[in-house]
Amino acid sequence: ELVDFIVFYNRIIDRFELTKEQNVTFERKLPKHVAFVEIDEDKLTQVLDNIISNAMKYSPEGGKITFTIKEQEQQLIVSVADNGVGIPKENISKIFDRFYRVDKARTRRLGGTGLGLAIAKEMVEAHGGRIWASSKEGKGTKISFTLPYIQSEEDDWV
Ligand code: ATP
Ligand code: MG
Repeated sequence: ELVDFIVFYNRIIDRFELTKEQNVTFERKLPKHVAFVEIDEDKLTQVLDNIISNAMKYSPEGGKITFTIKEQEQQLIVSVADNGVGIPKENISKIFDRFYRVDKARTRRLGGTGLGLAIAKEMVEAHGGRIWASSKEGKGTKISFTLPYIQSEEDDWV
């Protein structure tokens, strides 16, 4: 479906904001205008659910999660940043692998299977985008992905 991603993203953030039981602040840095992309809404909902639940899960009490959309010529760059535990540099390339979890003891306590980001990666790539993480141990983590604007046939007049 052709979707205004700003509205779509806001709706998902709203759902987390309304149901959260943790003391975490949300900040949105989103464009004020529309940004239409061709997406499968169910799949992108799952991508964002997986990324945002991680941000919540690994955030400290009183933490802050920042939601951003930036625009580049041919794509949107969507990101979710937290100021939680972070991910050690040597593990960062593996977090999108199936069943990979950084700290066995810590993650056992927090629960999960290690599939969330692997699924997110698969779905972002199915939309022609890419996904990556930047993180500093003890400072926080930012997960970003791109969504290309797919040129439709009707746009050929430009
Ligand atoms: P699941 O999502 O299946 O419930 P999970 O959250 O452990 O389990 P992923 O979402 O795939 O699995 O994440 C993989 C690992 O990456 C996590 O176990 C955690 O170690 C690390 N990780 C992911 N997001 C964050 C984050 N925001 N802050 C710190 N570590 C993270
Ligand atoms: Mg997860």
